[in-house]
Amino acid sequence: MTYKIDKSQNLFDRAQEFIPGGVNSPVRAFKGVGGTPIFFERGEGSCLFDADGNRYIDYVGSWGPMIMGHARGDVIEAVKARLDQGLSFGAPTEIEIDMAQTVCGIMPGMDMVRMVNSGTEATMSAIRLARGFTGRDKLVKFEGCYHGHADSLLVKAGSGALTLGVPSSPGVPAGAANDTITLDYNDIDDVKACFAEQGDKIACIIVEAVAGNMNCIPPSKEFLQGLRDVCDQYGAVLIFDEVMTGFRVSLTGAQGYYDVQPDLTTLGKVIGGGLPVGAFGGKREIMEYLAPIGPVYQAGTLSGNPLAMAAGLAMMKSVQQPGLYEQLTTRVEQLCTGMQAAADKHCIPFTTNSAGSMFGFFFTEAKKVSNFAQVCECDQEAFKAFFHGMLEHGVYLAPSAFEAGFMSAAHSENDINETIAAADAVFAHMSSA
Ligand code: PMP
Repeated sequence: MTYKIDKSQNLFDRAQEFIPGGVNSPVRAFKGVGGTPIFFERGEGSCLFDADGNRYIDYVGSWGPMIMGHARGDVIEAVKARLDQGLSFGAPTEIEIDMAQTVCGIMPGMDMVRMVNSGTEATMSAIRLARGFTGRDKLVKFEGCYHGHADSLLVKAGSGALTLGVPSSPGVPAGAANDTITLDYNDIDDVKACFAEQGDKIACIIVEAVAGNMNCIPPSKEFLQGLRDVCDQYGAVLIFDEVMTGFRVSLTGAQGYYDVQPDLTTLGKVIGGGLPVGAFGGKREIMEYLAPIGPVYQAGTLSGNPLAMAAGLAMMKSVQQPGLYEQLTTRVEQLCTGMQAAADKHCIPFTTNSAGSMFGFFFTEAKKVSNFAQVCECDQEAFKAFFHGMLEHGVYLAPSAFEAGFMSAAHSENDINETIAAADAVFAHMSSA
């Protein structure tokens, strides 16, 4: 049967009439790879089904949240059980305490946590808190890292901003970007030099503890530990943006995986089980700087929403099952090893990165990709051909060479084998083209 996406095309035509670019978040529009974005109808386990009835093995997982697979029974049931009690009160509920206690119990560097509604809100709030706490304005981030779309963070950003060629967005006033210093990921000497010059003005370093928005770039241990040491030396706040990596690269996030503790951590994605949830938390003395007990203001009408908490808590319970992260890591290793062998067989220059259940594929002669410049040197055209080939063979990858891939607990060995067989066919086609 030939691959058809007529219904997706019709839906995309209709969507573009009323939604800018036809999508509610830019990368979804396939600008990075060309072609028509797929409109989905439902997800089940490791798979997504589109409007035309095509089935795909999904390695996007809603960009991270669906670590246990789609439409997972216990998460859905938890939401259903909560539904009849009402959707929002804008007042405290017990389930918020259960959530906070669970998250603080798991995350090594977290004494207290506040819930918000997205990763963007989490990072924006954490930065305001770090600035209020230190009384300093400047922040350090790294090129190719994405921390949501708050003004001061849309400077040399990754993810969609990078895919669409606007890493520093128009509309961000110079004033909001002036205090943002952007350095090279995995280059601790760059960080030390910057602090030697202006360390007394820097409020915080924010870093993706495994970069997942310029494809997948794990940190060197020296880099993360070096950031910790520099912040200690200069009295700056170290923020690990674990929106993507939290409960993802390990149960205890990247901070547990690499054994380096930040002062503040931002969370999102997995913590909401697929509903809109973010969180930021950390050391008590910093968190107590937040209103209503402290002077730094931060708020949210729907923050701690009971339905979202129910989904998130059910997800938090299920990720604590023994052996989960070992299984995810094994599946990622199987996938990366198989993909590498298939690429080698067809003489396609290719390499992979991974950390826990996150992975990245790179079309490059380089044996190792460990910074932004190396990611940019990869063959974008080869990625596009690969992406579309995989799509036609029933594998849904992120539609951009600047995004990480995500494994879920629902991915079976069969899924991995099917994916590698698809890649074998696609690579064969690419090498003969
Ligand atoms: N930080 C990181 C590391 C992210 O990956 C993302 C989203 N991909 C965000 C922040 C922003 O989260 P959201 O899209 O929920 O606003």
